Amino acid sequence: MEQTIEIRVQKNRNATDTRSLPFGKVPTEHMFIAEYKNGQWQNAAVTPFHDLTMSPMALCLHYGQTVFEGMKAFRMKDGQANIFRMQKHYERFIKSLRRMVMPDVPQELFMSAIQELVKVDRDWIPSDADGSLYIRPFMIATEGRIGVKVSDEYLFMVICTPAYQYYSNPLKVKVETHFSRAADGGTGAAKCGGNYGGAFYPTGLAREQGFDQVLWTDAKTHHLIEESGTMNAMFCIDGTLITPPLSGSILDGVTRDSLLALAADNGIKTEQRPISVDELMEAFAAGKWVEAFGAGTAAVIAPIAGIAVYDKMYDCYLGEDAVMYRLKNWLYDIRTGAAPDKHNWNHII
Ligand SMILES: *Cc1c(COP(=O)(O)O)cnc(C)c1O
Repeated sequence: MEQTIEIRVQKNRNATDTRSLPFGKVPTEHMFIAEYKNGQWQNAAVTPFHDLTMSPMALCLHYGQTVFEGMKAFRMKDGQANIFRMQKHYERFIKSLRRMVMPDVPQELFMSAIQELVKVDRDWIPSDADGSLYIRPFMIATEGRIGVKVSDEYLFMVICTPAYQYYSNPLKVKVETHFSRAADGGTGAAKCGGNYGGAFYPTGLAREQGFDQVLWTDAKTHHLIEESGTMNAMFCIDGTLITPPLSGSILDGVTRDSLLALAADNGIKTEQRPISVDELMEAFAAGKWVEAFGAGTAAVIAPIAGIAVYDKMYDCYLGEDAVMYRLKNWLYDIRTGAAPDKHNWNHII
């Protein structure tokens, strides 16, 4: 049989009309890459986006020493580029690396890698109100060695992709009472690749049952809410913003942290405390105002329309006056320079 061979033509892609692209599908024109070898960081460079060559024996391909971050750059009202909460993302990256026994990336290297990359690809930051540049710093173990061990060699890279509104419709979620995303003493508080691979199967089952995502519960009792898909779970019950406290099985979300601060700034009561499935059901049964949403960099706020607990579906409040939409707007105003950045979250380049 005759085979047709497609010839790839490399051309400069331009940054216009990225809206029609699915999220995360197309990288910007450049990337950052640095190597860790012989105990040293070296060969740091911003280069055209390119594929990698590595040994099939590279440790990351076998034993999961991979860590990533997810952050965003925004276009401000005056046209400047703003990288949001770099410092907090850096600190979390270091925590994740240490949990996976990977070497620290010096702060200076992390910050300048991101700054330099965003500078060369700044035209890729959408100017639409719902647009931003998603930035993905990550690190992988590259030593070629099949024996189970901690790698001696790594690559630290940063890639970017334009991003727009993430979920179009409010989500229908299911309280997960069998599978777990993370357990006490595990790696749930680290942004490491394995956590996500392990979540695909239960999430796929939930999709087959007609849900968009699972609402994860604690691995021991399955009574306490932990996270919503790959986002932090937040609730607003009768005007109080409630989210589970940070623990070994909950990721310390930058969006979660920002929303808690903004709520407090605006006189909204906040509580970081365990919230059980029973408490939720009682709140619904008592006819309380219950808002539920996922909070994360990619979606910012993903409103939840309904929560299935065991076999019963409960509807959440989605009205235009919902607290979650006010929180989202306050955050947006800071990121775009429409409101003062009193917490020093913006990093303008
Ligand atoms: C990244 C992530 C979040 C959200 O963190 P942000 O810093 O707000 O993006 C929440 N949960 C999990 C499991 C995550 O991986």
